Amino acid sequence: MQTPIKSLLPGATLGVLGGGQLGRMFVHCAQRMGYKTVVLDPDPQSPAGLVSHHHIAKDYTDPQGLRELLGLCDAVTTEFENVPADALQALAAHLPVNPSAFAVSIAQDRIKEKKHFTDCKVPVAPYAEISSVEDLDSVAQHLLPGILKTARLGYDGKGQIRVKTQDELKLAWRQLQSTNGGGVQEYMPCVLEKLLPLDFECSVVLARNERGEIAHLPVQRNIHRDGILALTQVHTGCLPLELERLATEHASAIATELKYVGVLCVEFFVIKQMHPDPKISQGSARTTPSAAGYELVVNEIAPRPHNSGHYSVEACDISQFELQVRSLANLPLPRPRQLCPALMLNLLGDLWLEPGSTPAHPVWREPDWSSVLALEGVHLNLYGKNEPRSLRKMGHITITSPDTHKLYETLEKVTAILALPRFQKP
Ligand code: ADP
Ligand code: MG
Repeated sequence: MQTPIKSLLPGATLGVLGGGQLGRMFVHCAQRMGYKTVVLDPDPQSPAGLVSHHHIAKDYTDPQGLRELLGLCDAVTTEFENVPADALQALAAHLPVNPSAFAVSIAQDRIKEKKHFTDCKVPVAPYAEISSVEDLDSVAQHLLPGILKTARLGYDGKGQIRVKTQDELKLAWRQLQSTNGGGVQEYMPCVLEKLLPLDFECSVVLARNERGEIAHLPVQRNIHRDGILALTQVHTGCLPLELERLATEHASAIATELKYVGVLCVEFFVIKQMHPDPKISQGSARTTPSAAGYELVVNEIAPRPHNSGHYSVEACDISQFELQVRSLANLPLPRPRQLCPALMLNLLGDLWLEPGSTPAHPVWREPDWSSVLALEGVHLNLYGKNEPRSLRKMGHITITSPDTHKLYETLEKVTAILALPRFQKP
């Protein structure tokens, strides 16, 4: 008979590495459920540290900080993928830590990530590893136009450059290497991905526990602007059901093969299938199954809750942060139900610019929240960051309504008040 795995019940203390907005929403949720919380983040003003029972303002690798965390916590999770794998490993020797250092190390590196997807038989965009000058010269022509991405440490479209020609590729590579601290001894590994004709993007947020049970949120449809998530849409008619099913199957396979425990987000590209023998597979031996006339290609994974899952706080009976608490505390994972159609609009720092001022010479002011909050079904979430910056994620607005038409009417009003470009209903 299998030994039951112990659950950590409310009253226990849960720790999180990282004090950003994801950590803050984890802390809010854990506290609502009766847990105590600890945040490890060197920034004394970190959004999560400000609302946690305890905040250890030390670096992630500081031995004293890690000892303090161990002394306070019953289990530890992370809210960002660039946490040093060694820190997770050191903690895991003493208490439950999820996701594992191994899973995080795969998500930290685009090259390892893509190999894992291929092992799981989930299609990826055609790509080449670029680790040396020789690799640059031997790049296959069919990968252009493409996107050169650093294998590690990229986020919100940072660490990637679009290139059309071999010359642009070389220039971009030098530009990315120059961010590696100059006087480089070793080259920073990159991948060149073929630029795909995206029809749209979607993502799956799931949680997996020690027993291998998986619960997932409804599949999200995502609109990016300049490489940054701008809007998430989750309502009937957003995505063909077949596509949702395939995305969920792929995401589950990726989590299961990793023996993943915790919350995982899998981002996908969706491409309209033009031919029975799909274009994107050119140059690769992989076959690409289609769903409702679309091809689904995995982009990347995040070993934590994800910006595209924020709507679940207001629109689902179990949010992505509750899934994180439950999987960390080894509690049951019933399937979350969506209670109403929802949209999530990201609020970037540029919204705080006084009209007429520019990111180069900013004059900051508070946006007109009062007009936004006068609208039905609008939920304002601000992360408590101490200063706005251009392109910095400062907060988001979730819009809910039983009526999808009304949802978009409200979105129109919100974007008009905030002077944001408009969005199309799918
Ligand atoms: P990040 O880690 O910054 O999220 P991504 O690899 O997810 O980096 O890229 C950010 C966005 O750029 C994607 O969500 C997508 O809109 C666009 N993008 C990235 N790779 C490709 C590609 N191969 N083809 C077309 N668009 C892409
Ligand atoms: Mg991404």
